[in-house]
Amino acid sequence: MDVLFDKHDTLSPAAGRVVGVVLNANVWTTFDYLWPAGLGEPAVGRRVQVPFGRGNRGSVAFVVEVDRPRPAMALKAVTAALDDAPSLDATLMRLGQWMSHYYMTPLGMVLAAMVPSSVGQHAPKHETVASLTSGPDDWPKNLGPKQRKLLDALQEARKQGIDSVPLEQLFSHGGDRQTARTLEARQLIRLASRPVQLPALADATPEDALELNDEQAAALAAIEANLAPAGAADKFSVTLLQGVTGSGKTEVYVRAARAVIAAGKQAMLLVPEIALATQTLERLLTRLPRVAVLHSGLTGAQRAFYWHNIAAGEAAVVVGPRSAIFAPLPKLGLIIVDEEHEASYKQDTAPRYHGRDTAVMRGRLAGVPVVLGSATPSLESLVNAQQGRYAWVKLSRRVRNLPMPRLNIVPLRKELSPGKIELIGATLTRKIAAALDRREQVILLMNRRGYASYVFCPACEWQLQCDACTRAMVFHQATQLASCHYCQRSALLPQICPACKGKIVLFGYGIQRIEGELLRKFPTLDRRMARIDSDTMTTPAQFRNVFDEFSRGDLDLLLGTQMVAKGLDFPRVSLVGVVSADTSLTIPDFRAAERTFQLVVQVAGRAGRADLPGEVVVQTLHEDEPAIRFAATHDFDGFAATELPLRHDANLPPFGRMVRFIIRHAHVGLAEQGSRTLATALGRTLPQDIRMTGPMPAGVQKIRNLFRYQLLLTASRAGYIQQVISPRLAELTKDIEAEVIADVDPVNLL
Ligand code: ADP
Ligand code: ZN
Ligand code: ZN
Repeated sequence: MDVLFDKHDTLSPAAGRVVGVVLNANVWTTFDYLWPAGLGEPAVGRRVQVPFGRGNRGSVAFVVEVDRPRPAMALKAVTAALDDAPSLDATLMRLGQWMSHYYMTPLGMVLAAMVPSSVGQHAPKHETVASLTSGPDDWPKNLGPKQRKLLDALQEARKQGIDSVPLEQLFSHGGDRQTARTLEARQLIRLASRPVQLPALADATPEDALELNDEQAAALAAIEANLAPAGAADKFSVTLLQGVTGSGKTEVYVRAARAVIAAGKQAMLLVPEIALATQTLERLLTRLPRVAVLHSGLTGAQRAFYWHNIAAGEAAVVVGPRSAIFAPLPKLGLIIVDEEHEASYKQDTAPRYHGRDTAVMRGRLAGVPVVLGSATPSLESLVNAQQGRYAWVKLSRRVRNLPMPRLNIVPLRKELSPGKIELIGATLTRKIAAALDRREQVILLMNRRGYASYVFCPACEWQLQCDACTRAMVFHQATQLASCHYCQRSALLPQICPACKGKIVLFGYGIQRIEGELLRKFPTLDRRMARIDSDTMTTPAQFRNVFDEFSRGDLDLLLGTQMVAKGLDFPRVSLVGVVSADTSLTIPDFRAAERTFQLVVQVAGRAGRADLPGEVVVQTLHEDEPAIRFAATHDFDGFAATELPLRHDANLPPFGRMVRFIIRHAHVGLAEQGSRTLATALGRTLPQDIRMTGPMPAGVQKIRNLFRYQLLLTASRAGYIQQVISPRLAELTKDIEAEVIADVDPVNLL
């Protein structure tokens, strides 16, 4: 970082060029600053520091315009450049501008989210590499054993086409720094320093020898047909790869990525965050060269290292969750979005972007093909495919023609013994026992955290709620505390009802309660089962441990929230149980049925992935719901055909487009008043073809002590609401004291 001026210099009217910058703040203004000599060329996309606000605090800003006309007033100067070259290239700048407009978020906030703050703050790490100056025939006879060993190792690497080998790597084959120095003095090797590089070689694995089946081959051919040959310009396209669970989609991604790498380009693979903790990642790392993995567990320095490698064009493949879509690949040749239906692709803080939709837009702006893969595509992508905007390829069978697992829908009300609080019914109990007897493995899904949902008093109906949010707190057995799932606050369990001094009761059910029930029914599971939810798994390493134990056979049963529904591929899993399909079916959200369908199909897909036949038991109180009925037969088309007309008639997504405004404030009156002011202002400006619902209290009325009201706008065309509202947003909200948040294409309506 070069700091050129101190505060006193910044007001000097020295001649200089004027740049427009945007700040990471909720303001739509572009600010003018002088560009001082000594910071190199001003360029759009460079990250700088500028004096701003009270006390002239240094703020990070992005240059968005160069050589603006010089205004009459005195300007302050940029104080430092945080990068030498633009952090964002022209395509990423355009992507940022699109996001700012589409997601109604100031450009400065968008750009700040696109570039990790650690980038530019860490000099790239260097390593010393050795290379041979001559061949074995020219080596002198008087070599010590250590010297000989080191030279042999280098010669061996050279045979594999690798000329420079990092010393650290050589030393693991014997030899030491002193030996290397001696050889350098004897001019037998050359030592040089270079930035640390990514692992260059992919290991050969048995999967390389797999022959793709007809459907996989056709899918790969369809994707490859969109890839431009080396040297030629790519073209934008989107392909929806709809392949049932276990149909070998990952194998298709790997081969498509290899084709891209062979053409000298880079591939990007977006995955749901959780997948980075599963075997999927291991498989990708062993099968592809020079993979840069971006995940939330990286230190600043690690992230900067990967970022540098990606920007230098050295990383062949970038794998990461939604934010990886902003990685600066100069030779981007293909974007793959795995599990494209996943709600976790939507960010729930500003900028509230959807990773999949942003991927499609990046593909369009960069002019490269995009592949969206899923066993249960989002209805948004399905409609795009049906209407011909996306190419559409299907994998309708599992690899090796393995059968799809059979689903048993078990109506819960007939299963439970009267008078007992139990959640694992007779059928599921019997099947778990049988699977354990056969020494096979079981995965159970219970999509609700905690032990008991409610802590309440039956006498007066008092209920333990979070003070900061308006939600019931959930009791956790392990900590013996009740906690709020919205703000993570926790509280002690009261001994008696604070309202009437009556007896407190724990009621409802969550994953911890199921854990207890399992241990009572199957004592042999003690130490042979693991619970996977965000309470037990706080780091990626914990996941990996559990998954390793499960694949080694040290565990018989995995009990988890939706975290167990995705991407797991264990050959000995023959039984999957869904303890209650109703937890997701009954949330007040128009996507409840779609989510439930996806969840049941995805978790069912974990069963019978190898030679053992798979079976699935789904317990529900709503056995006649279409989401459940169609999931039972893996009938995606049937589900879509039932659900789409309902969405169409109600003008809901994917047909209607939605923007949700949240108006929030610590004072309930101000939140409510703000929502009414906004509604009135909107009512005056909105054209006929934008419908407004509300204002009304949000589903969760208070989160982290902020009261929340909402307004929903619906229109029939994508981007139309933004087009009408964005230019007036500042005007519309200027008299509102509460914070107004726009959530475009919301996926969470609570
Ligand atoms: P999906 O991602 O569609 O659920 P995967 O790509 O994980 O499926 O493939 C499931 C399993 O099938 C993996 O273990 C993979 O190695 C194997 N597999 C993939 N393609 C083939 C093939 N053509 N023949 C045999 N096995 C395959
Ligand atoms: Zn709370
Ligand atoms: Zn009471």
